[in-house]
Amino acid sequence: MVSHKLHEEWCVKLGIPREICREVNVLIDIKCRKHDVGRREKFVYAGAGGIRIPIVGKGRRYVGKTVKGVPIRMMYVDVEDLIKCLKRFYGDTIPDSVVKSAILHHFLDEIKNILENQKVSLNAKEIIDEVARRLELLKRFNQRAFHEVYIFLQNNVQRVVESVLKEIE
Ligand SMILES: [Zn+2]
Repeated sequence: MVSHKLHEEWCVKLGIPREICREVNVLIDIKCRKHDVGRREKFVYAGAGGIRIPIVGKGRRYVGKTVKGVPIRMMYVDVEDLIKCLKRFYGDTIPDSVVKSAILHHFLDEIKNILENQKVSLNAKEIIDEVARRLELLKRFNQRAFHEVYIFLQNNVQRVVESVLKEIE
């Protein structure tokens, strides 16, 4: 995961009050009772025989491995889960700043995932685009906020990717 220091730094740069940034990062990583609420890993069935490969909870072991060209460890977005959690803390109308902080959180974490696991080398701009593709379902949460976060990251693409890269190792 990306450190909360870095999550907070970019969140504040996005124009969100520091207190909100802090709160949302803690909610997503800890308080919602699962880590990174809104992003989950899914089971992948190997081959036509459907042998279930138990990957959930096993973490890094399967990173980058494939079965017949299909990555074993895949991520999917669970918008409902994320919304449910945020509503518990903020009520039915989730403030805009909270929505944006949450979307940014997932973008930064996925940028790190790509930097750690990429097999083909993508440039910084392509990494942001790839993350936007992976997280596309978050548009259901709030399309305008998603777009705003995406544009913000594109405008700061080099600095964002370099700052995440520094946290690897
Ligand atoms: Zn996280």
